Amino acid sequence: MSEETIFDKIVAGEIPARTVHETDTTLAFLDANPLAPGHTLVIPKEGYERVRDLPASLSADLFAAVHELTPRIEAAVDADAITIGINDGPAAGQEIPHVHVHIVPRFEGDGGGPIHGVAGSPPDLADEELDDIAASIRDD
Ligand code: AMP
Repeated sequence: MSEETIFDKIVAGEIPARTVHETDTTLAFLDANPLAPGHTLVIPKEGYERVRDLPASLSADLFAAVHELTPRIEAAVDADAITIGINDGPAAGQEIPHVHVHIVPRFEGDGGGPIHGVAGSPPDLADEELDDIAASIRDD
């Protein structure tokens, strides 16, 4: 479990939020500083800092909520698409150490970019390096 954050206070009803969806284990509410109309955060009610920390069933519950919400959000704000993202760790931009999924409605010509833009300059990796990385992830 992570340290108490502002999201725990939202779950406890101690501070207000514009809730859009709730299950026994998850809560979704509008982001207070939206990147687009309908920008929504989906969180597990229990506070875990990183995606890796989530119990598997809670991880499934979280994605089920994302799956249910994305078409509803897209329709509600008449968006053309959705970007779904998680800042998983401070170096990735995570400011609140309680797992949260950003659902950001996207509009034709909104001036934003694809998720490929998040990582700075792409590395130029040789085939051997790619093979080594894949093996390392597989834990060969
Ligand atoms: P991250 O940088 O991925 O940790 O994102 C944290 C998000 O939480 C930001 O988009 C904030 O705008 C949002 N946020 C912070 N406080 C609140 C709040 N009280 N209610 C709703 N969203 C919040």
